Amino acid sequence: MRLILMGPPGAGKGTQAKFVADHFGIPAISTGDIFRANVSEGTPLGIEAKRFMDKGEYVPDEVTNQMVRNRIGEPDAAPGFLLDGYPRTLAQVEELDGMIASSGHRLDAVVVLRVDQDEVVQRLTQRAQVEGRADDTEDVIRRRQAVYAEETEPLIQVYRDRGIVHEIDGMGEVEDVTKRIFAALDVVPQS
Ligand code: ADP
Repeated sequence: MRLILMGPPGAGKGTQAKFVADHFGIPAISTGDIFRANVSEGTPLGIEAKRFMDKGEYVPDEVTNQMVRNRIGEPDAAPGFLLDGYPRTLAQVEELDGMIASSGHRLDAVVVLRVDQDEVVQRLTQRAQVEGRADDTEDVIRRRQAVYAEETEPLIQVYRDRGIVHEIDGMGEVEDVTKRIFAALDVVPQS
């Protein structure tokens, strides 16, 4: 199973990614999490990425693509993977197509979480208090939303044209959103 989870900053991708990936026994790969881990370890990748992340800008494609290529080449991703936060640009879509095709597989589904803009800002500001992410200040949140609208939202159409997009209402309780995702993916709940 090879899946992409898309949605604007604060849509709850990370939370849902874990449930979905656990169900399929595949890793949830979050580019944001990998970047943040590198930032906190002070690796060269982290130092490079931080310059962009702190402003709410995207990390350059070459850097991000290489990181994803390495990650999905690891043994745990052999049965499949769920990508959270990638691809975010058209160049990343094309790169991912190449990666998946060269392994002889295909992309099974793209799940898009739809949320209310005001709700999202509220969620992110709350998260800022709990987790203290450097990019969760109001200015940077707005910038991330604008960059998403400009660069990433249009990618949904690319996948829609392939007939693999599932648009899910991301509002409400976490477990209700999970149920909607599973229903869209034709998953029978276990509990
Ligand atoms: P959110 O979606 O809530 O804004 P993420 O944790 O997914 O946050 O990403 C945080 C930051 O990491 C982004 O604002 C960006 O700077 C960087 N990043 C994550 N994924 C990518 C990507 N696919 N391409 C470029 N930059 C990325």
